[in-house]
Amino acid sequence: TIILAFESSCDETSVAVIEDGTKILSNIVATQIASHQRFGGVVPEVASRHHIEQITSCIEDALTTAGVTYDELTAVAVTYGPGLVGSLLIGLMAAKTVAWAHHLPLIPVNHMTGHIYAARFAGEFNYPQMALLVSGGHTELVYMPAPHEYQIIGETRDDAAGEAYDKIGRVMGIAYPAGKAVDELAAQGQDVFNFPRAMENEDNFDFSFSGLKSAFINTVHNADQRGETLNRADLAASFQQSVVDVLVHKTMRALAQYPVKQLVLAGGVAANRGLRTALTEQLATQQPEVNLLLAPLKLCGDNAAMIGAAGYINYQFGDRAAWDLNAQPGLSL
Ligand code: ATP
Ligand code: MG
Ligand code: FE
Repeated sequence: TIILAFESSCDETSVAVIEDGTKILSNIVATQIASHQRFGGVVPEVASRHHIEQITSCIEDALTTAGVTYDELTAVAVTYGPGLVGSLLIGLMAAKTVAWAHHLPLIPVNHMTGHIYAARFAGEFNYPQMALLVSGGHTELVYMPAPHEYQIIGETRDDAAGEAYDKIGRVMGIAYPAGKAVDELAAQGQDVFNFPRAMENEDNFDFSFSGLKSAFINTVHNADQRGETLNRADLAASFQQSVVDVLVHKTMRALAQYPVKQLVLAGGVAANRGLRTALTEQLATQQPEVNLLLAPLKLCGDNAAMIGAAGYINYQFGDRAAWDLNAQPGLSL
């Protein structure tokens, strides 16, 4: 089974060729970060235009790199939400065009299942399993009792974890997206500010990061007013420790209530070194019988390989989209 997969939900134009759901024959990712950086975030109209410019060469590159012709394809998979409507529509139109022209089934894929399936390239899924899904727009604990079944048991009530990284990064003068740079800075500092850990001890699986963001901004602002300069590495380390503590704590609480065989860490923020380390250590001491499956570092951010992997399971379950498949910007799991 060879799937041509499309991802264009945000600021990455990506096309991949995936064999049997687990083998990456090609994964072309054209990022637009440089174009959005000067605005401090993704500008939807600019993103759509870049997708239009890039998509055709991404398809050609993906097929050439994979050494696969249109005749050898089994199906076309495409992200139809959640994301920016204008961006999603470009990938959808391209995927529909290829599928229609070559008489191939069109497989609809939820971008968030794609993030989860990035971890499939690191190892097998083992049910029941839990996924901690942390990205630029989402922070969710997802219970997966069986393949193709997703239940959100907890989520953020305000900012997503990645969004919080990008916002405090902006305050520190770090270019968008700030997550990776803040992570690297954090490794050189100490948690001296002891920022709040919102909802850590509440009896639910939800998160909140806007209070932490405000505490961070107030700390920097108050220091500015006093004419003081705070240690940047310590600021980053303190912010990161707060985020990681809450994510790990809530995940352990979820595992205590939902017995699972495996925990999956996925989404753009799953690239975070502090989070990967803390989750590995805490799981080993608190829930040693639960296996940890970390999405490969290179596949944590948006890419079409993960969409091909999720598309493969959808394909096996018989999911087929009609030609009127529309973008669903607010699509949920
Ligand atoms: P969503 O998937 O929710 O629709 P998105 O696709 O924009 O949102 P992703 O591509 O999954 O988000 O992830 C991007 C986010 O990951 C950005 O907010 C970025 O700052 C963050 N990020 C990337 N690397 C790291 C890191 N090492 N530590 C923390 N955050 C990181
Ligand atoms: Mg992105
Ligand atoms: Fe994403």
